[in-house]
Amino acid sequence: MDLRRKGISCAKVLGAIERVPRHEFVPKEVRDQAWEDMALPIGRGQTISQPFVVAIMTQALKLSDRDKILEIGTGCGYQSAVLSRMCRRVYTIERHKPLLERAEAKFEDLKLRNITAIAADGMKGWPRMHGIDQAPFDKIIVTAAARDKPPQALLDQLKDGGCMIIPVGGSGEQVLRLYRKESDQAYSVKDVMPVRFVPLLPDVAKDVEVA
Ligand code: SAH
Repeated sequence: MDLRRKGISCAKVLGAIERVPRHEFVPKEVRDQAWEDMALPIGRGQTISQPFVVAIMTQALKLSDRDKILEIGTGCGYQSAVLSRMCRRVYTIERHKPLLERAEAKFEDLKLRNITAIAADGMKGWPRMHGIDQAPFDKIIVTAAARDKPPQALLDQLKDGGCMIIPVGGSGEQVLRLYRKESDQAYSVKDVMPVRFVPLLPDVAKDVEVA
């Protein structure tokens, strides 16, 4: 009801958010705040996005149940779970192994069987595995902020006619951008709204790294 009042009109997005138990994805300490419209800490210095932002990003992608999606920044797995309810398959990459393992356990618990998650550097796109390429993807969602533009590897893994939603900018002045790949090297770009995300960082995180 709250998201609808704030302008989320897509019934499929509202339905998916209603069916994913956000409280199960957040640490015990903040569970009582799980159904409030705010970002929350999930460990390793990372945060689960505010539901309104999850809804805006999901709605902007205009998902179909035939879509194959790539997500960069699995975090606690909440956004992946919302996506998994709305499309054919979700491929998701997280650079913090402990977060990824927790998210995978949650997908198993909730029997979300159309999500494939790996620990890797998502800025490089989905890697070829066992001789199989999953790219190109119908849609790509990046849930950490790129400094000035989307990583080229991600633009390359987008289907012609596909779109990518990604926060861009340094801390303090980020904007959520929707890129549409018109053809091989031509993109249209639309600014959606100002946002605050943790930064997109290179490489798989070291064990000692907290942020
Ligand atoms: N979608 C998540 C939000 C997590 S916050 C959720 O619903 O909980 C963003 C996440 O992006 C963090 O967990 C961070 O570790 C991850 N991240 C940052 N840079 C990355 C990269 N290059 N590859 C993969 N994950 C990355």
